[in-house]
Amino acid sequence: MGIDSIQAHKPRLQDTGSATPHSMCAVMWHSHPMHHLRSASVVHHFRIAAFLWFVICMLVPVSVGLLVQSVWFENFQLTMAGSGVAMLSLLLVIPLWAEGSNTNCPLCWTPVLTPKACSKHRDARKLMGSHRLRVALAILFKNQFRCPYCNESTALELRHSPRHVTDHWSQLD
Ligand SMILES: [Zn+2]
Repeated sequence: MGIDSIQAHKPRLQDTGSATPHSMCAVMWHSHPMHHLRSASVVHHFRIAAFLWFVICMLVPVSVGLLVQSVWFENFQLTMAGSGVAMLSLLLVIPLWAEGSNTNCPLCWTPVLTPKACSKHRDARKLMGSHRLRVALAILFKNQFRCPYCNESTALELRHSPRHVTDHWSQLD
């Protein structure tokens, strides 16, 4: 009686380096790398300016609606309310200008949340007719934005700096 010896198949060595330099180049070309901001205070300016711009975009149609209703119903209280909301949105433009001047795109250095006559990128998209509203909503809800001028994406995160490591070692001395 013969004993059947079953030999286990040796696993075939496989090539671990699957990505060739050429295919990596193709990946880099098609996906946009994410840029980052340089300090926590800059991230803060972006968030405040985005919030102010979002609030102003909400208040303007509310005030217009109240004023139209006040004319329609000839109601003085509605006129006062509409005027008050319009005044509030005008007052918020002042801190928006102050904060918006610090919201420069890290790549092309154009402020993305203040009005600029610079020509936009041909692929830049609007939201309800506004580039800045799209940027503001992306900052508030996605924690990132795409610059309407250079069309590059930026995350509201800090760049990884080797300085933190050196600071840590200097404290140990
Ligand atoms: Zn840019």
